[in-house]
Amino acid sequence: MQKVLTIGEVLVEIVATTKGDGFLAAQPLVGPFPSGAPAIFIDQVGKLGTPCAIVSRVGDDDFGRVNIERLRADGVDVSGIEIAEGETTGSAFVRYREDGSRAFLYNIRHSACGKIRPNPVSAALVDSCDHLHVMGSAFSAPELGAMVMDAAQRIKTRGGTISFDPNLRPELMRDPAMRAPLDAILAMTDLFLPSGEELFLFEPDHDEAGAVEALLARGIRTVVLKRGAKGASLFQKGLRADAQPIPVEELDPTGAGDAFGGAFLSFWLRGTDPAEALRLANAAGARAVTRLGPMEGTSTRVELDAILQGQKG
Ligand code: ADP
Repeated sequence: MQKVLTIGEVLVEIVATTKGDGFLAAQPLVGPFPSGAPAIFIDQVGKLGTPCAIVSRVGDDDFGRVNIERLRADGVDVSGIEIAEGETTGSAFVRYREDGSRAFLYNIRHSACGKIRPNPVSAALVDSCDHLHVMGSAFSAPELGAMVMDAAQRIKTRGGTISFDPNLRPELMRDPAMRAPLDAILAMTDLFLPSGEELFLFEPDHDEAGAVEALLARGIRTVVLKRGAKGASLFQKGLRADAQPIPVEELDPTGAGDAFGGAFLSFWLRGTDPAEALRLANAAGARAVTRLGPMEGTSTRVELDAILQGQKG
């Protein structure tokens, strides 16, 4: 079976359990939860039994260890997570505003992952993997971005495949330093996984159908549009499938897109019927939002089947 690689930040998330105005007053917090978009994504891939690995860098501390242990337990090859002595793993504090929106306080500027550089272990992993999952946010850090670009070119040249989740705020897209590498990645992309307005990042002058058509005309094989609580849609040349949202109680939406993407990719790589892969990924996204903590809601196949059975019942 093809082996999936991703490269990027591993961090922990600490979550406020009461809605409020900020962190000015003491409040109950829960965590640390393993986190980082690439980590959540690859954890979901591992839980579905797809061979996979992550390249990252953490401090020699409990925040790094909690991630490594979780990912290893869920089937991810963690040999590419370098442990940097004397450095610290990044963290993020999350709180929910009264209106349900989220506010993040990041502590990653000086995290160990900021000093990630290619090394013999990461080079060997790039050589042994057949698929790379790219997060657009990687290109906001020049060294990480260069590593991701190099891995994408190597894997693609060898006949491997690329999935791409922009995972970006539109303001960042307007930064010329970001634009060039993102355009280069899109040109190599086989599976594009935008969320909401990200569909228009590369095709701003179209409506939804026009943007999809233009993306497919660029040679992208599959476009999967994540629609949050409204479900998801899949587009290939001559094919459209829609997944209606599964009714769930949304407790924590962080990580839903990564769980969705990891699940979809696993089934897509196995050659599962696209509409069925979408249905399973939609279940993974729905289950993800029902758990507090961004990686706590990643699913096994049995858990996906259970949520889909419940939907039928
Ligand atoms: P992202 O985190 O990338 O913005 P979304 O928020 O769109 O991703 O969530 C990814 C997928 O998870 C959605 O397309 C949908 O399938 C599922 N999902 C997200 N939120 C909900 C919800 N409240 N109810 C049911 N399914 C959801």
